[in-house]
Amino acid sequence: MSKFSDHNFKGQRALVRVDFNVPLNDKYEITDDTRIRASLPTIVKILRDGGSVILMSHLGRPKDGPSEKFSLKHLVAHVRKLLQGVAVFFAPDCTGNEAIQMAASLKPGEVLLLENLRFYKEEEKGNENFAKKLASLGDVYVNDAFGTAHRAHASTAVIAQFFPREKKMFGLLMENEVASAEKVFLHSEKPFTAIIGGAKVSDKILILENLLEKATDIIIGGGMAYTFLKAMGGRIGNSLCEQDRIETASFLLKKAEERGVNIHLPSDSVIADKFDAEANISDAPSNSIPDGWMGLDIGPNACEQFSNVILHSKTILWNGPMGVFEMPQFQHGTICVAGAVADATQKGAFSLVGGGDSVAAVNKFGYTNKVSYVSTGGGAMLEFFEGKTLPGIAAIQS
Ligand code: AMP
Repeated sequence: MSKFSDHNFKGQRALVRVDFNVPLNDKYEITDDTRIRASLPTIVKILRDGGSVILMSHLGRPKDGPSEKFSLKHLVAHVRKLLQGVAVFFAPDCTGNEAIQMAASLKPGEVLLLENLRFYKEEEKGNENFAKKLASLGDVYVNDAFGTAHRAHASTAVIAQFFPREKKMFGLLMENEVASAEKVFLHSEKPFTAIIGGAKVSDKILILENLLEKATDIIIGGGMAYTFLKAMGGRIGNSLCEQDRIETASFLLKKAEERGVNIHLPSDSVIADKFDAEANISDAPSNSIPDGWMGLDIGPNACEQFSNVILHSKTILWNGPMGVFEMPQFQHGTICVAGAVADATQKGAFSLVGGGDSVAAVNKFGYTNKVSYVSTGGGAMLEFFEGKTLPGIAAIQS
C-alpha cells in the first residue's frame, strides 16, 4: 500500500472509487452534495500533480441494469462547477470500448466520470472479471469511498488485487476515516470513554461487546439505557424496553464488571406522559419511573454525571443520541454531552463521532468543528466499531 500524500501522480491515470451516491430530487437536481465535496481534496491533489482522474461510483440501487433515474450523468454539471475550469467528461458506460477509449485519451489535468457501476450486477457480486475490466482503465487505484468500505464489491475491494502494492492506496477522505477509527480502537490513549445511545440495545450489542475489550468507561444513554436499568431491577414505567434483550443486558453488565470496565447509566431522566413534543414532562430517578411515564432524555444529574466522565477522558467515541433529540423538550441531554465532548477535545482528548443519528445531532447543534472527527461513513464506521474487518480497507492494506 502506498501513502496517497507521498505519491506523485504525474502522467498517471488514477482510477478513483468515490462515493457519489447523492440524493436527487424529481428534476434530478442534487439536494445534498456533501459526498461529492468530501472527495474533492483527493481529486484536486491528483490533478495538481499532473495526473488525470477516472471517477467511478454507484448511485442508488438500480435493479435491472441502466436507467435514467440512477444515471451519473445528472452529476456531471455539478462536478464541473465544483472543479472550476477542469475538463470533466462523462462515459455512458463504466466498461466497454467507449469507456476504454475515453480513459486512454484522457490528458493530464482532465477528469472522466464513469456511468453507474451498479448498472452491472457484477459490481455488487464482486465479480473478478468485471473488477479486472475496471482495473484496466487506470494505472493507479485510489479508494476514497469509505461509505462502501464494508462491502466486498468489485470496485471497492476485488479490484485492488489487480494493482501492485505501490499502486493502490486510500484517498484523503478514506485515509482520515481509517486513521481516526484506528486511533480510537487500536491506539487509544486511556481513559477511553465510549458514549453509546440511541433507541435499541439490539442494534448495539456487537459494538458494546467490542468496546468491553477496549474502553475504560462506557456511558449508556438514550432509549437503550432502560433495558439495562430494567435488567438491574429498576422500575422504568413505559420507557422503551426490549424484553428479549434483558438477559443480554445482564450479561454485558456482568462482563463489564469482570473486565473492570465502568458502565455509566443515567442517574435521572426527563420523563414524559406520552411520546410527543407537547407531552407533560417531569424529572425522576431513572430506576423509579412511575407507570404511565417514559424516559425520553437523560436528566440534569445524569448530564453532570456523564460530563464528569467525559471531561476526564483522553479518547472519546460517540455513537447515538442521549434522548429524543428531534423534539426540543428532549434534546438537552444530547446537547450537554456534545458540549462535554467539545470541552474534552479542547483539553486535548481525541473525539470521534460516528454513525447516523449522533452525526445528525452534532451537525444540528453546531458541534461539528468542535470534535476531532465526524465520520461520513455510517454503516461502514459502525462495522468498524463492531470490530469487523472491512473488505475495502483490507484489500488496500493487505
Ligand atoms: P439509533 O438509530 O439507534 O442511534 O437511535 C436514534 C433514535 O433513538 C433517535 O431517533 C432518538 O429519537 C431515539 N431515542 C433516543 N432516546 C430515546 C428514548 N429515551 N426513548 C425513545 N427513543 C429514543
